[in-house]
Amino acid sequence: MIRPICRMGNPVLRNVAQEVSVHEIKADGFDQLIEDLKDSMDHYGGIGIAAPQIGVSQQVCVIELNGLNRYGQEINLPFTVFINPKIKILNDEMKGYWEGCLSVPGLRGYVERPQHILVQYLNQNGEESELEAKGFLATVIQHELDHLFGKLYVDRLKDPTLLSYQEEFEQFDLSNQVLE
Ligand code: ZN
Repeated sequence: MIRPICRMGNPVLRNVAQEVSVHEIKADGFDQLIEDLKDSMDHYGGIGIAAPQIGVSQQVCVIELNGLNRYGQEINLPFTVFINPKIKILNDEMKGYWEGCLSVPGLRGYVERPQHILVQYLNQNGEESELEAKGFLATVIQHELDHLFGKLYVDRLKDPTLLSYQEEFEQFDLSNQVLE
């Protein structure tokens, strides 16, 4: 079911979400949450979505990346569910991308994040899992995980001036600005 998206200003986006137990993962209703996240992500055109964005304060997020990103890099991650995820930074070298967010519609902002990480999490079956990620995928994962801890990308702008409306972002070709 497609759910309405909570936007910046809604306190649910600023809470630290609750961890989910294996018991809860196996309980009735949990699959419905995953389905609602997928339906909502697809409907609103996101590449990832976190449970707090549909008003559910639980540590669950999903990501699905198919093909080229807007930087022309080929990135593929089949639909993946991350429950109670924790990040280890494998290399703290930072790389910046212009991020967007369903909860901050119509805007883009430039954020730098570590570009090589390991995520440890429970999968949809409650099994311990891990995923090593680099580059744009590492950024997407960190963006979604932030939602589980009350953070939005706008809190992490490299510089407060590096925030733009989507239309102006395209009109003035901001994605081509090299920012080091
Ligand atoms: Zn977001």
